[in-house]
Amino acid sequence: MRGCGGLRTLCGSSFCGVFMKLNLAILPGDGIGVEVIAAAMRVLEHVAKKFGHTIQATYGDIGWAALDKGHKSALPEETRTLCKNSDAIFFGAVGLPDRDKTLPLQERPERVALLELRKGLFANLRHIVLPKNLKHLCPLKDEILSKGSGEIDIMIIRELTGGLYYGQPQGVTGTAPNRNAVDTMAYSEMEVRRILKVGFETARKRRKRLLSVDKANILATSGLWREIAVAMGKEYPDVQLEHMYVDNASMQLLRRPTEFDVIVTENTFGDILSDEASMLAGSIGLVPSACLGNEFLANYDPAAKSLPRATPFYEPIHGSAPDIAGKDLANPIGTILTGSMMLRYTFNLQKEADAVDAACFGVLNEGKKLTGDLGGRAKCSEVAAAVIEKI
Ligand code: NAD
Repeated sequence: MRGCGGLRTLCGSSFCGVFMKLNLAILPGDGIGVEVIAAAMRVLEHVAKKFGHTIQATYGDIGWAALDKGHKSALPEETRTLCKNSDAIFFGAVGLPDRDKTLPLQERPERVALLELRKGLFANLRHIVLPKNLKHLCPLKDEILSKGSGEIDIMIIRELTGGLYYGQPQGVTGTAPNRNAVDTMAYSEMEVRRILKVGFETARKRRKRLLSVDKANILATSGLWREIAVAMGKEYPDVQLEHMYVDNASMQLLRRPTEFDVIVTENTFGDILSDEASMLAGSIGLVPSACLGNEFLANYDPAAKSLPRATPFYEPIHGSAPDIAGKDLANPIGTILTGSMMLRYTFNLQKEADAVDAACFGVLNEGKKLTGDLGGRAKCSEVAAAVIEKI
């Protein structure tokens, strides 16, 4: 039985806010993916039990882990089916650089698995928080970090399925030395409107400030984007909407990071800004992410209920980290916080997600159980145990 997603919660299902069954596809993948997913699953099982829910976790093969088991593809058919029939996908990482190069580009795990599983998921959310007691790990100076609210807590919402990476025509024509290359940045009103809606609704649930990032002084797509953002802003009088050109936004993120709340932007700008912003969190091992589609949009837009569903996809932002894999050294917090995003955004379990977040930041701020990337000596499994103890 499928769990009660955010959509179903709003429609008043009898499962809402009571006891739920969370039907999850668990894809640990390669390298530290295995360790961080194991740690995060211990936490999720604990919080589910504590709040009276059950988790139906079905594990699937993906990446080199699938190829090594004899599957012909890094994303076997069984795994695709599992993902399709699940409420959410909880993913670790895929790829091993030394072995990736032995495969043609189109067959490499990251390309095969990620592109396929993210299809139809147009909203990528990355939550960047610098723990209060780990400010020394942020590359910015104290005087910048103590400005404004004195805290970095930014949600970056990136459009994920349109723009420059998918627009046609794309390619190289002619012969050297006279070749031409073209990429096309294209957006429809529908694509812009739906990602902005995710932006406004997310801001409404946070500090009610939305920054829409574009390049409206140059690009036609950005002109359309800004026009729609301004018009939609009138439907959200409680949300303070601001606009910024992407070049300025990339500077301001480093100049006054404590002043940002929610940022919404198109695919290419979001790709670059979200990587830049992830440096503000102190370690790549601390940052969670979610890829969401029509099912999430339908919480706010009833018309999206009849649109095709793609299974929401949750992953930490880091890769398989082969340099530390198999040693119980990885930082599991980014993956545990990813699990918390899953509770919040797919299952609308706010109290449960709050409990996980508070436990993670409690452990980080206490500073007793920190992994190597944060300057400590704790094992991945010990951090998970410390988080569980705090829930
Ligand atoms: P990476 O994120 O795996 O590692 C970069 C550095 O950060 C390494 O020094 C690593 O030890 C450290 N690190 C990463 N996560 C950490 C954690 N949780 N705790 C402590 N330290 C951590 O990036 P990479 O080395 O460029 O890539 C390794 C492999 O992962 C490649 O095959 C790449 O293609 C793949 N990759 C996969 C994904 C994905 O599955 N979504 C994303 C990025 C990279």
